[in-house]
Amino acid sequence: MAGEPRLALSEPVADEVRKTTCYMCACRCGINVHLKDGKIRYIEGNRDHPVNRGVLCAKGSAGIMQHYAPARLCAPLLRAGPRGSGEFKEISWDEALETATKWLGEIRATDPRKLAFFTGRDQSQALTGYWAQQFGTPNYAAHGGFCSVNMAAAGIMTIGGAFWEFGAPDWDRTKLFLLFGVAEDHDSNPLKIGMSKLKKRGVPIVSVNPVRTGYSAIADHWVGIRPGADGLLILSIIHELLRTHHVDLDYVRRYTNASWLVIDAPGTPDHGLFARDGKDKPLIYEQVTERIVPADTKGAHPALSGRFRLQDGRATVPVFQLMAEKYLDPKYAPKAVSDVTGVPASAIRGLAAEIARVAFDEAIEIDQPWTDVNGERHASFVGRPVSFHAMRGISAHSNGFQTTRALHLLQVLIGSVDCPGGFRFEPPYPKAVEAQPVPHGNAGDYAPNRPLSGPHLGFPRGPEDLLVDEDGKPARLDKAFSWDAPIAAHGMMHMVIANAHAGDPYPIDVLFMYMANMAWNSSMNTAGTMKMLTDKDEATGEYRIPKIIYSDAYSSEMVAYADLVLPDTTYLERYDCISLLDRPISEPDAVQDAIRWPVIKPDRDVRGFQEVMIDLGARLKLPGFVDAEGAPLYKDYADYIVRHERKPGIGPLAGFRGEKGDQAGRGAANPDQLKRYIANGSFFSAHIPLEAQFFKHANRAYQDFAVKMGFCDKPQPVTFQLYSEPLQKFRLSAEGLREPVAPETHRERIFNAFDPLPDWYAPLSEEQIEKSSFPFHAVTQRPMAMYHSWGSMNAWLRQIHTRNPLFVPGAICDAQGLEDGDWVWLISPHGRIKVEIQRMDAVNKSTIWTWNAIGKRKGAWALDPKAPEATEGFLLNHLITDLLPPKENGVRWSNSDPVTGQAAWYDLRVRIEKARGGEESEPQFATLHRPGHPPAVPDQLRYGQEWQK
Ligand code: SF4
Repeated sequence: MAGEPRLALSEPVADEVRKTTCYMCACRCGINVHLKDGKIRYIEGNRDHPVNRGVLCAKGSAGIMQHYAPARLCAPLLRAGPRGSGEFKEISWDEALETATKWLGEIRATDPRKLAFFTGRDQSQALTGYWAQQFGTPNYAAHGGFCSVNMAAAGIMTIGGAFWEFGAPDWDRTKLFLLFGVAEDHDSNPLKIGMSKLKKRGVPIVSVNPVRTGYSAIADHWVGIRPGADGLLILSIIHELLRTHHVDLDYVRRYTNASWLVIDAPGTPDHGLFARDGKDKPLIYEQVTERIVPADTKGAHPALSGRFRLQDGRATVPVFQLMAEKYLDPKYAPKAVSDVTGVPASAIRGLAAEIARVAFDEAIEIDQPWTDVNGERHASFVGRPVSFHAMRGISAHSNGFQTTRALHLLQVLIGSVDCPGGFRFEPPYPKAVEAQPVPHGNAGDYAPNRPLSGPHLGFPRGPEDLLVDEDGKPARLDKAFSWDAPIAAHGMMHMVIANAHAGDPYPIDVLFMYMANMAWNSSMNTAGTMKMLTDKDEATGEYRIPKIIYSDAYSSEMVAYADLVLPDTTYLERYDCISLLDRPISEPDAVQDAIRWPVIKPDRDVRGFQEVMIDLGARLKLPGFVDAEGAPLYKDYADYIVRHERKPGIGPLAGFRGEKGDQAGRGAANPDQLKRYIANGSFFSAHIPLEAQFFKHANRAYQDFAVKMGFCDKPQPVTFQLYSEPLQKFRLSAEGLREPVAPETHRERIFNAFDPLPDWYAPLSEEQIEKSSFPFHAVTQRPMAMYHSWGSMNAWLRQIHTRNPLFVPGAICDAQGLEDGDWVWLISPHGRIKVEIQRMDAVNKSTIWTWNAIGKRKGAWALDPKAPEATEGFLLNHLITDLLPPKENGVRWSNSDPVTGQAAWYDLRVRIEKARGGEESEPQFATLHRPGHPPAVPDQLRYGQEWQK
């Protein structure tokens, strides 16, 4: 976009234009908010913003109606009726904060584990995580466990980065682009802008997705894969690349652990681990000197195949040989995987051949000398111009971790990670696992009135880092980092309510949640979850989950289940910090972060959640929020953003640091920092020198730049881990060969899922059901015009999608005599829903699907109980179980990936039966009251009506 002539702007409609950051989805585009007579009149894209270059989507412009939505909460609320009834009384902020402080203070002084603090689509995890750590509870996470932790964990453990906010395709140079499981709401404007560039250049786009909508609809080639089979397709492509010798061996030797020697000593505790020297350095076999030497030996020419004996006599083989042996197995041949994937063998062979042709025959070069971390000078950057992007479609399966690892392996084998034309890291990534913390939360890590001894979330290096007691019992309420889900790097929010209700592994006292609609579309087993929230202990008559504090800007379904509601502002009324400590807005060639600020004052008795956390931190006298005398350290959240330091000179924002505001990354706090951001369009951008822009994982100039910016204190190059030693350590524990040994109940599950090389296994729930009774798959996608449930109540966006039909493949319709508008029962092993169908042919022939999060509960979100969202809309969640059926030994696993605990939303199997016509989808639940005393809503909403003033 830069350099293109600009169209003239229309006449300003406003008295004033304020530049901030959109929050109608997670992309964080720059917006110009036009204000007239003290009201928001118009929102447009900011042409100077690096994320969207002026592009604004339907959601972004509809931010006006989000801001003026009748569903906004108006004041703090205290429950006045039974939980779930939605009956509340309005209270003052003083009373609300005193109540919260009393509840939380008692826990902190006695047993901080009794607070479970989980946040949903929150963009301030650098603050919320720090707050929870200072409080001292081990029970904190955000929503990644039910969103896409498989993407993040597999990416970081394999290449030190991941898709989405940690990397992007090289849109200007790529010559072939492949998407896996990406729905049209994902990475919305950046992806649309990028794909429009590809369209202009005639670059082919391939989309692998069971459903052909959105990006898949404009792709040149659509691969309508069967859900859950992506990993097998990818491994088959790898089989073809290896078979046809299309691997970038130089790249693989330089940047990966393909040459590291793996000990081959079955039945011993070292089997499958890397052979290491006395300084713990992995070893390779050097071909010129014919000696085993450390992997970092300068000038070494490592062997990728062979069998080599260590001095102590143990046999070893290089990782690459293990890979070749595994993936050249005929079971990965295109013909062998065609039935399971639903992709013809010829299409798989064609895909592999095209990837190889573009990567190797159309290689590109940027004439820029650079030096690698070993001191070797290179004349240019050589690129393999094939790029990939992936998202929840491959991630939200119980095999999603290994599938994502397989996709990164594919990228690495053709040499296309962080090269010109390939997938490129966005700072502060790449970061090796060694640069990530291990999780904290074991006994000894917490105690009354003390901060947790380290961060909650991280990456266990092996079973010794699990959060379990001596008997293997989980230390965390959600059972993250236990034998159930050892590498649950984002926690397991989807299990919190079920476990708190069961008192397993222990009961809690306060459940504190932010922006997470757990009583509706953010939970599996939705009806069961609502019941858990209202169940009482028979002996005491008290709720099984004694106290629930909830913060949200809108009257979502979850509000009805809270005891205390802390009403949040809209995104246009508060400060937010989109930080390099969290999930920034960097681009591959620039370090970037951003803020939101109150472009308009709240007209209700509401406060920004982050502001409330600063206040609560001070009231609870949490270290880091009060000084030595117990006085508040920060006036408000804005003050925190400017003055908080995570390490000396490193704060939430990287831009305009130092007393004069002329330092980036590191520097003293600058009292004018926020003013400088606002004057700059609410973002900060620092360009990465060209010499440092590629091969960041091994580029000396980039590593120096990263130290200068404060991402790390010394260079931290990343060696891509094609073979994962931490996974092998878990396997050895599962075999009983390595301490700590996995419990008997978990051994088979861990052994099967923790292959150190990327692997594929069928989605776990499929093993435990009679597939002929549930022959079809069922998945959801979010539409381009909506983002979670908060967008689907927006008066303008509702006009695009007011209800969600069930889309049924034509072949199934024909076989079962179904026509458009028929009503059906959709039945899973867990439940049944009655819905209206629509025939569709652009979908995998065994996959039924619908749009996500449009169906609403009657009375929620200030919608009329007769609104189509509530009467005809529906949720697939009612069909999804949170627990798999019991195994023979009685154990019930959560419906999650066994490695990361990621919720396996898309493993759902169903059957479909014609139903008698109906007027309403089923199930229906009691109508909710509008909480508090909000103004009445007119029948038809229009911008500028009386209730908005
Ligand atoms: S993609 Fe649309 S909704 Fe998302 S941040 Fe950008 S303008 Fe806002």
